[in-house]
Amino acid sequence: MSETALVVGAGVTGSAVARELARRGFDVTLAEQYSPGTVRSASGGDTRLLRAAHGDEEWYTRLAWRARSLWLELQAEAGTQIWEPTGLAWFAVRAGGFEERSIPQLAQAGVPYEWRSPATGAALFPSLGLEDLHGVLWEPEAGVLHARRATQLLAADAERLGVRTIAARVLPGDEPEADVVVWACGAWLPALFPAEIDVRVERRDVFFLGGDATWRDTPGWVEYDSGFYGHGDVAGLGVKVAPDFPSSEVDPDTLDRFPLREREDAARAYATRRFPTLAAAPVIGARVCQYDLSADTHFVFGRHPERVSWWLFGGGSGHGFKHAPALAEYIADCVEERREPEPFHALGERTGIAGLRSAYY
Ligand SMILES: Cc1cc2nc3c(=O)[nH]c(=O)nc-3n(C[C@H](O)[C@H](O)[C@H](O)COP(=O)(O)OP(=O)(O)OC[C@H]3O[C@@H](n4cnc5c(N)ncnc54)[C@H](O)[C@@H]3O)c2cc1C
Repeated sequence: MSETALVVGAGVTGSAVARELARRGFDVTLAEQYSPGTVRSASGGDTRLLRAAHGDEEWYTRLAWRARSLWLELQAEAGTQIWEPTGLAWFAVRAGGFEERSIPQLAQAGVPYEWRSPATGAALFPSLGLEDLHGVLWEPEAGVLHARRATQLLAADAERLGVRTIAARVLPGDEPEADVVVWACGAWLPALFPAEIDVRVERRDVFFLGGDATWRDTPGWVEYDSGFYGHGDVAGLGVKVAPDFPSSEVDPDTLDRFPLREREDAARAYATRRFPTLAAAPVIGARVCQYDLSADTHFVFGRHPERVSWWLFGGGSGHGFKHAPALAEYIADCVEERREPEPFHALGERTGIAGLRSAYY
């Protein structure tokens, strides 16, 4: 008889883990309190960037690069488009920052990149404000994932492999019966396991501006030090401009998902400065979602200290989407005791700063 596994949460992580465990012969149930890819989950956004640069952290560079191959395989097998091959530009506003620190790790992992001057970086966009730019780190193989669609595709593919998806909110007190339980509950995890999970849940607002046709399929971009990121107009969504600024803590069940005026003003001011031809572009879409932030931006993953057949995953920290299929391999390897979780993912209190997403951790 095969081992049974219950995966709680059908966001991108839980769906990928359920699928991976099914591939490895587990008899899997996937429980979701709303629906796979719900817009209340971080995985339910329209788009998410995939980039390999992670500053000094080679582990994540390699994970992202592996994940990219797995996403492309899934897309080819399913015949559903989830990937936009846009490339991604990092706008460096100083020497020796996150962008330049990423280069040795990209080279080590065999990830293509180019360091461009501001003037040659400008050729990637219809318009680019150059005054404060030190340089551009260009990742030609990076891109944009259709996030909700990709999450739902993973969940559907898991079902094709025999996973049973159930609509249920599963709580630790339910004492779920399975040989292995993986709690992949995103922003809901800290409330379920307050003693083990040191994660803060904050809102983030995302805007889509109506640029003209010159913005179609232009690259993804991140300005790490200023805390802004986005992409060109993919699939008619508009040009994404997102301020990655801290907020107070929120409840993912009750959060009203209307964008804040001050965040819209920040997005507009940034777009006007960095992409001058977007200065008068209207807002044609917006989304509000939540980050599950560990203090140091490393993921949180490990065995529950008392329930040793329970594994907890969380702390995506605003950069977890891209990694999901490769992360699922890592999680499944740990569940099967083929490897140990990395010490920097340990449960419990976190200190220090890895800065894996933006200068605003
Ligand atoms: C605005 C924004 C922009 C982002 N940009 C990027 C990006 O560009 N690139 C990138 O890689 N990452 C990005 N991220 C981060 C990324 O989206 C998340 O790290 C990732 O989606 C988290 O996935 P998850 O499956 O761990 O959690 P979630 O997506 O939150 O999924 C958890 C699921 O578990 C379910 N659940 C919770 N508790 C229970 C329970 N008790 N019983 C049953 N079901 C339960 C929830 O309903 C939910 O569906 C961004 C996040 C946000 C919010």
